[in-house]
Amino acid sequence: MPERKSLDVQPETVAAAYGVASDTAFGAVAPPLYLSSTYEFPGFDTPGAYDYGRVGNPTRDLLGEAIARLEGGAGAVLTPSGMAAVDLLAGSLGNGSLVLAPHDCYGGTMRLLAARAKLGQITLKLVDQTDLAAFEAALAERPALVLIESPSNPLMRIVDIAALSGLARAAGAKVVVDNTFLSPAIQQPLSLGADYVLHSTTKFINGHSDVIAGAVVAADAEEVKRLRHWANVTGAICSPFDAWLTLRGVRTLFARMAGQERNAMAIATRLEAHPAVSHVHYPGLASHPHHALARRQQKGFGAMMSFELAGGVPAVQRFLKAMRVFTLAESLGGVESLVAHPATMTHVDMGPEGRAKAGITDGLLRLSVGLEHVDDLIAGLDAGLAAC
Ligand SMILES: *Cc1c(COP(=O)(O)O)cnc(C)c1O
Repeated sequence: MPERKSLDVQPETVAAAYGVASDTAFGAVAPPLYLSSTYEFPGFDTPGAYDYGRVGNPTRDLLGEAIARLEGGAGAVLTPSGMAAVDLLAGSLGNGSLVLAPHDCYGGTMRLLAARAKLGQITLKLVDQTDLAAFEAALAERPALVLIESPSNPLMRIVDIAALSGLARAAGAKVVVDNTFLSPAIQQPLSLGADYVLHSTTKFINGHSDVIAGAVVAADAEEVKRLRHWANVTGAICSPFDAWLTLRGVRTLFARMAGQERNAMAIATRLEAHPAVSHVHYPGLASHPHHALARRQQKGFGAMMSFELAGGVPAVQRFLKAMRVFTLAESLGGVESLVAHPATMTHVDMGPEGRAKAGITDGLLRLSVGLEHVDDLIAGLDAGLAAC
């Protein structure tokens, strides 16, 4: 394996330069893309560092090492999607294992866990993790795995990762935190006591809306080995080209997060003061119920938020028709700003009752704030709000 520079350095340096100038063939500064599916054995019964692309790939490994370092983990396993990252953990549990997940968890995660539960492979229990008594009661049922999402989607609720991890660990459970909404630039769940971090790297880590991929980072080296083995067994591996593109995205992760967060804060402040908006859910606002916790647990507040239009669905329709600069689309975390209507898009599968229980109204809009000029973003939103 080639020597990697920048071993004992700040996270910003890892993101910008991990694996730079480590090419031994030609001294390429930008790490090359290895597409080969198979590798020559140097001799009889002597495999080299790599033998077959499902087992390992130099481009994928480089990205995995970079993400693991950013999260402070022992290693990472890269998967072909965020869902495959969730399934790497869920699918490798013993039969009948109890999984404890938030009642308002990411829709795809809910669908996956419910499907595996329906097949009798796991047992699924959903709780409101902001309710500590309910969480502790659920832990008494001895879950094997506890999934935490903070901030939640789309209402940006924050839970105390250190407190919940401590309780879960004491109950003998492993803890995984979905860190997709913040990225390791803003939150490092392993340092708060989690056993694993998972990502849809599709979102902020890649940051350019041109890759679907995922990652699981484990705190423990034995767990990294076990999960790598499982990814090879099931074949759920990230393609080298996607890994190469994603590493290109990682180079600017900190700069992107900083710029997008700055824009998000200005937008949240603006929305909160607008008469057409009845509520803004952004942890960076002092009015957010978990603002103090977010301040303590995170290095920033990120670029995701949601807000309610006082006029409900008719106002949503008028807003979306008149707004500019933002694009109406699902997904998040790219350099371009997106707006989504959870009730008809990302959270449609929950049904009206599920949404009502989770507090997702028909007048709610979710924003993923990008890197455009903040004046243009505010003007684009103002155009929509003026029509409400
Ligand atoms: C998008 C997303 C996922 C799923 O990731 P894919 O890459 O779309 O498979 C999981 N968790 C969260 C929080 C997400 O936003």
